[in-house]
Amino acid sequence: SAAVRDRLRIAIQKSGRLADPARQLLAACGLSWRESRDRLFCYGETLPVDLLLVRDDDIPGLIADGVCDLGVVGRNVLLEQDGDRRGNGRAPAFREWRALGFGGCRLAIAVPDAWQWQGPQDLAGKRIATSYPALLTQWLAQQGVDAQVVLLSGSVEIAPRLGQAEAICDLVSSGATLSANQLKAVQTLVESEAVLAGPVDRFDDVRGELADLLLRRLDGALRVRNSKLLMFQAPRGLLSELLPLLPDAEQPTVMRLDDGDDVALQALCHGAVTWQRLEELKRAGARGLMVLPVEGMLA
Ligand code: ATP
Ligand code: MG
Repeated sequence: SAAVRDRLRIAIQKSGRLADPARQLLAACGLSWRESRDRLFCYGETLPVDLLLVRDDDIPGLIADGVCDLGVVGRNVLLEQDGDRRGNGRAPAFREWRALGFGGCRLAIAVPDAWQWQGPQDLAGKRIATSYPALLTQWLAQQGVDAQVVLLSGSVEIAPRLGQAEAICDLVSSGATLSANQLKAVQTLVESEAVLAGPVDRFDDVRGELADLLLRRLDGALRVRNSKLLMFQAPRGLLSELLPLLPDAEQPTVMRLDDGDDVALQALCHGAVTWQRLEELKRAGARGLMVLPVEGMLA
């Protein structure tokens, strides 16, 4: 659309796996919204950033059409629709801006348990049921395998039992759905997670600054997600023994205390800080150990 907008509009899933984590992540970036009664459009309060609540499949198209500026969607959906556009000779109209670290799953080939899988060539002449025809077709071409793609919009995992296909190509996370249907994943096509999707090019109006602000906050929120601030005191002389015990930490800050040889140390730790690790630090001479949640970070 030609209209210049001075607000940023982000499409997220209305309900489903990505709906809550997407909202939580955007809220962690300092955004808040006035709830609307129809629950389709949420007007941004703290910043001029509005939400549109939609089906995940619609998100790439909304970006392509300029109805929305950004969206939170699975990489699997984004790549499939991008592949579909390319397959039809159309120019790319959206791309991944950031990986968001939730909604992890993979698009995989799965076959009946009894199949002694040797490799992609096993699929030659077979029927493969999927909701991801573009990605599957691309992959088969790369592998040089000639197979028939059977398009199903849902319940792909029961296709082999119904005799519609010999194999499937579907999303897998735990694998529980597959094993409940006597199938096993044998080959990964795409490692997926939720991503922030946007147009191919930057915005050239006020939305560009809003998007930059959002990306900076997003990077900060993603960086400190699962991070903890670890603080303790210790005699300076023990530092060389203590530092190697810090769990997956960034360069710690060491502060001299007014009296004597003691220092206070703080370190940003990525990943879990376990009780066991705290006990090891204490045995090595640390005192007053404290673990604090980190809510934001601006580098
Ligand atoms: P909508 O009504 O919005 O179309 P949907 O049923 O297509 O919803 P969900 O099942 O909520 O979508 O899945 C959304 C996304 O979650 C998927 O596209 C995928 O990126 C991710 N995901 C993570 N794990 C799984 C899984 N085990 N199965 C399916 N999707 C998964
Ligand atoms: Mg969907």
